[in-house]
Amino acid sequence: MRCPHCQSEQVIKNGNHRLQDGTPMQNYLCKSCHKRFSERTGTPMARLRTPTSIVSLALNMRSEGMGVRASGRVLTKSHTTILRWQQRLAEQADAWSPPAPESSEVTLEHDELYTRVGENLPPQ
Ligand SMILES: [Zn+2]
Repeated sequence: MRCPHCQSEQVIKNGNHRLQDGTPMQNYLCKSCHKRFSERTGTPMARLRTPTSIVSLALNMRSEGMGVRASGRVLTKSHTTILRWQQRLAEQADAWSPPAPESSEVTLEHDELYTRVGENLPPQ
């Protein structure tokens, strides 16, 4: 674990907090710059209180062709929340590497997330 602010490795554990679903999240304190951060700091998920699993589920639904409102209903989130996640991840596409299924192509464009399955694959 490195400090996301100064890249120092002089960090100590500093308690933890829980996400909405009870997932424990470790907090750290940097001994070099004295800033606090958590496991998520510096990632696209930083400051999101929703578990990463829910966010990636939403994006998977979208990439499978589900509408943003339908995805929101399934996850009991508003469609604006879903759109915000998409936008957030599109903006930070470089820092986010989704677990892409094999032989598929993931393209991030503008504020939408598109998944396009390769069309020239040999039959399975
Ligand atoms: Zn630091």
